Amino acid sequence: MIGIHPDNQAPALSDYNVYTSDPALRRAVERAGARWRDPELVRQGAEYGAEPTLRAAEEANHFEPELHTHSPIGERIDQVRFHPAWHAMMSMARRNGIANLPFFDDRPSAWSAYAASLYMHSQIESGSTCPTTMTKACIPLMRLNAPLYGVAGPLLASLEHDARDVPLTAKRSITVGMGMTEKQGGSDLRTNTTRAVPAGEGPWGAEYLLTGHKWFFSAPMCDGHLVLAKLDERGATCFFVPRWRPDGSKNAVHIQRLKDKVGNRSNSSSEVEFAEATGVLVGEEGRGISTIIEMATYTRLDCALSSAGFIRQAFAQALHYTRNRYAFGKALADQPVMTELLADMALESEAATLLAMDLAARFGSPDAADAAWRRVMTPVAKFWNCKRAVGLTGEAMEVFGGNGYVETGPMGRLFREAPVNSIWEGSGNVMCLDVLRAISRHPGDAQLVLDRLRDVATQAPAVLSQVDKLRDAISQPPEALEREARRFTQRLALVSQACLMLQHAGADASAAFVGSRFDPDWGPVIGISAGTRDPAALLRAAWA
Ligand SMILES: Cc1cc2nc3c(=O)[nH]c(=O)nc-3n(C[C@H](O)[C@H](O)[C@H](O)COP(=O)(O)OP(=O)(O)OC[C@H]3O[C@@H](n4cnc5c(N)ncnc54)[C@H](O)[C@@H]3O)c2cc1C
Repeated sequence: MIGIHPDNQAPALSDYNVYTSDPALRRAVERAGARWRDPELVRQGAEYGAEPTLRAAEEANHFEPELHTHSPIGERIDQVRFHPAWHAMMSMARRNGIANLPFFDDRPSAWSAYAASLYMHSQIESGSTCPTTMTKACIPLMRLNAPLYGVAGPLLASLEHDARDVPLTAKRSITVGMGMTEKQGGSDLRTNTTRAVPAGEGPWGAEYLLTGHKWFFSAPMCDGHLVLAKLDERGATCFFVPRWRPDGSKNAVHIQRLKDKVGNRSNSSSEVEFAEATGVLVGEEGRGISTIIEMATYTRLDCALSSAGFIRQAFAQALHYTRNRYAFGKALADQPVMTELLADMALESEAATLLAMDLAARFGSPDAADAAWRRVMTPVAKFWNCKRAVGLTGEAMEVFGGNGYVETGPMGRLFREAPVNSIWEGSGNVMCLDVLRAISRHPGDAQLVLDRLRDVATQAPAVLSQVDKLRDAISQPPEALEREARRFTQRLALVSQACLMLQHAGADASAAFVGSRFDPDWGPVIGISAGTRDPAALLRAAWA
């Protein structure tokens, strides 16, 4: 018996609804109280899975952005030009609320509505989520400068994508990026060398001139970036550096070159020099790192959501392919070893989705307990989902056999996209150290998180014993825990996922998750044991 295609080739996964086919996502949206967004998410799900969208996503990555530093008559223009497919993806992201929804909709569940859209968009075209989610994350910071926000606020609130390279006052909407990383250090921002000197008052408040560079400066075509620079002895300060100065002249942000990246190829990332570029103050002088870290908290949530999306897409592609490809007399999906592997991927996908969506729901909550949860669990979820996405996308590529390892298909792009979420916005080790820092600064937060987890873990002795190990660990001095930071973070991630599965997944899936993830044999190879007697039932439950 062979597949429906005469050559036993699986047709591309296309014209499906990315939202309604994902029961765990839909339940998470409903649980968070975002049912009001359901019809719109159904529309978006159909749009994301439609063939023209998949083609645009492919083209936006195939026809890469190009840097044009000078005009034909030798003037500096510092423009990056994109294929129309990039703009189609940017328009879709913007229309679907990814650039602003939770900051312009007062309903706490707007965070979950937003999260669902980002999770879906990332599955289909991830490069465009970079400028879009940075724009969303900058909104609370831009509000710190009232005259600037007076101009920028309505442009940030817009659902239209306006790519024109013109001053803010002429735009219908804007995008904003962030510039922190320099050659000598990205994690250790205290080493930044870019300097700012006061330059009087302008329409957006105190102005400064910035001189220096940024080594990674994504989306340089944004209308402005939030940039860290040192202000004399006051130290690192956050500035809004626009592409066009308030007086309508071009700002001196010179793009040196675009990065030749492993993946994320639709999105432009650059190196820039500031040649006395104008910046305006955002937040307090000398408090730049803590100001800009607020933005990073939002983008770390985004990395956890987007990597959960990668894992879901890896699973969806693998399931579709193996149901349509035959070997040794039956569909690959029905071969016992493959069924086991797919079931394990389904568990991984549901647990990643729950971890990210639960965190997103807490971003909308005014509750102090949810604030504690955010502080501890944002770096945990960022670390774990991003790490797991790297392994899962590789495994899903292999499920396609040779067809996975060619560019004429979706798997290469998904695989190359995955590691970037783990690197930017705080790399793995930095996230684990951040978990320890959160715990040592607010010991009550960790206690509260572990108490909540313990309440659920009483249903599963294997999980409960891990909660007790975590409690023992936090009773040690933080320095003693540093070398154990990865082990501690992994344990906290797995315990949290297990508790979420016990609370919200089907009985078979939660039992299988606990049975496998807390089995001493569980390790780096995916699909050794999904820990269930009926893996096919898990697959039926994971895909509607
Ligand atoms: C595609 C892409 C786009 C990017 N876009 C932007 C952007 O728009 N704006 C921006 O500001 N940055 C951007 N970055 C930069 C990114 O945020 C940094 O690369 C990242 O923060 C790591 O900094 P680094 O490269 O200097 O590595 P380093 O800081 O040198 O770190 C190297 C390794 O050491 C580890 N490490 C660091 N400190 C410790 C420690 N104390 N203990 C143990 N291990 C440690 C890190 O986890 C990492 O694995 C981008 C990066 C990429 C790849």
